[in-house]
Amino acid sequence: MADTTRDALKGTVGFIGLGIMGLPMTRNLLRAGFPVVAWNRTASKVALAEGAEPAASPAAVASRADIVVVCVTASADVEAVIEGDAGVLHGLRPNAIVIDMSTISPDVTKRLAARVRGVGCDYLDAPVSGGEQGAINGTLSIMVGGEAATLERARPVFEAMGQRITHCGPVGAGQTVKLCNQIAVCLNNLAMAEALVFCQQSGVDPSVMIEAISAGAAGSWQISNLASKIVARDFAPGFKVSLQQKDLRLALEAADTVHAPLAGVSLVHQLLGVVEGRHGGDVGTQALVRALEALTGVEVGSTAR
Ligand code: NAP
Repeated sequence: MADTTRDALKGTVGFIGLGIMGLPMTRNLLRAGFPVVAWNRTASKVALAEGAEPAASPAAVASRADIVVVCVTASADVEAVIEGDAGVLHGLRPNAIVIDMSTISPDVTKRLAARVRGVGCDYLDAPVSGGEQGAINGTLSIMVGGEAATLERARPVFEAMGQRITHCGPVGAGQTVKLCNQIAVCLNNLAMAEALVFCQQSGVDPSVMIEAISAGAAGSWQISNLASKIVARDFAPGFKVSLQQKDLRLALEAADTVHAPLAGVSLVHQLLGVVEGRHGGDVGTQALVRALEALTGVEVGSTAR
């Protein structure tokens, strides 16, 4: 696979933002044979992607790359690295492609795409699902918005990082689909939490319940991956509550524009606010159950009656 990838794209990939997701994604690009030039706000992290050439700024990355990938936190952060004083816009080569893989606002995405097109380059929004493990394994689901022809030019880069690459529609559509992903994810999380708390209150062993329902119609990624962590009282993050809250805010904002009834999302957002207040935003999203535990006074997994 690596050889085909090298043949299909001869260019250099620039990578901006080597965090939990960006670092393993960069490593996979290097493994697939791409030359990578990288910049991270905390410069020392670039050395963790052994083989990546460090650059002095996002503009310097862009001046040396054919495809520039951004994977930072939120809308304002993507704006800073693209439009800031030493931002990508100041260094882009003709016909380069900017790919934003962060989860941000679809409206900000459309505005940034227009600015990038204004200097003769192309733009794709390409947020991901699959978590840190998916980034490490190169099995991310990548939801792409933009021109189909631009996606085809960038496909080898996506294939080095992900497994399912879906063209969702024009610029912004990738971010919209990612928000749909977050809507479904957060409500599956609530369904799991309610089942666990009810089970505990009813005096039945939650581990037995998880085993019984995970293979049937109630099965979900959350029940398979997070329910047993709750029973074991493991609230370490795969995906942090603070990032989930950022995404739910984006979904609620976008829903406001089209008058969509995200009643369930509003509820989860409020409950996660309670979790943030009591336990901080760095806990994993499975900590949603703790809001229900606070309401009922039971603890899932406890043997006390
Ligand atoms: P992270 O570990 O917190 O990394 C964030 C990265 O963005 C770091 O490299 C950070 O630089 C950089 N950054 C943040 N603000 C910046 C700014 N203003 N200027 C320059 N650089 C800035 O986050 P992550 O988990 O990798 O998430 C990255 C994106 O992927 C987010 O949009 C997130 O919602 C999305 N995502 C995450 C997951 C997941 O499971 N973690 C799954 C799907 C999607 P420093 O190193 O200097 O802090």
